[in-house]
Amino acid sequence: MKQIIVAIDGYSSCGKSTIAKRLAEYAGYTYVDTGAMYRAVALAVMRGEVELPSLKGLDQISVGFRDNHVTLNGEDVESQIRTLEVGNMASRVSPIKEVRQYLVAQQQLMGRDKGIVMDGRDIGTVVFPNAELKLFLTASPEVRARRRYDELVGKGETPVYEDVLRDVNDRDYRDTHREESPLRQADDAIVVDNSNLTREEQMEKIIAIFNDCLNRQ
Ligand code: C5P
Repeated sequence: MKQIIVAIDGYSSCGKSTIAKRLAEYAGYTYVDTGAMYRAVALAVMRGEVELPSLKGLDQISVGFRDNHVTLNGEDVESQIRTLEVGNMASRVSPIKEVRQYLVAQQQLMGRDKGIVMDGRDIGTVVFPNAELKLFLTASPEVRARRRYDELVGKGETPVYEDVLRDVNDRDYRDTHREESPLRQADDAIVVDNSNLTREEQMEKIIAIFNDCLNRQ
């Protein structure tokens, strides 16, 4: 069976990672969470391993994956990158051209042999403009803020819903208005609004789209 590249883009906290991971499992493909890569660079900045604005140290760090967990210089940092602070720093480092070039080059290498599901903001527009399947996921800011709030509570944090909603809106604004690779829907992307879909309903819909795409190859 021919292998394809699946590019999944969309706003923050709209369930991209969960969907992408499950689709990769279903298809037997490799899953790459590019947001985690930007978060790992953000963590390196917070640890002082990369300096801003000079970017001194960027070429000394290595970002990779082990068992679907992101690594920074070989250290599994998956749980440390999932905080609001690292998320905010990630959306500050991600507009920097050199950071993007550095990570996009690695992402393109990862997709060289196809058979990959990659999620992010610029996968269908910049990383893999020729991807066979492009999905653009979206949900209302309130729905995404509520999901993010529940996730943080589940991790033992004590967020304030209004702060989380403001954060979602701020991040959307920064992601869509930055000069370098702003988040936008590729012309040939299929839009899936999951505001009113359960995860299962959404998964069924996406698997049907994936199989339909495979059959057309
Ligand atoms: O998806 P996630 O919230 O983990 O992404 C963290 C940050 O990394 C986002 O706010 C976004 O600005 C940035 N990002 C990006 N390009 C990608 C993936 C994520 O700019 N391909």
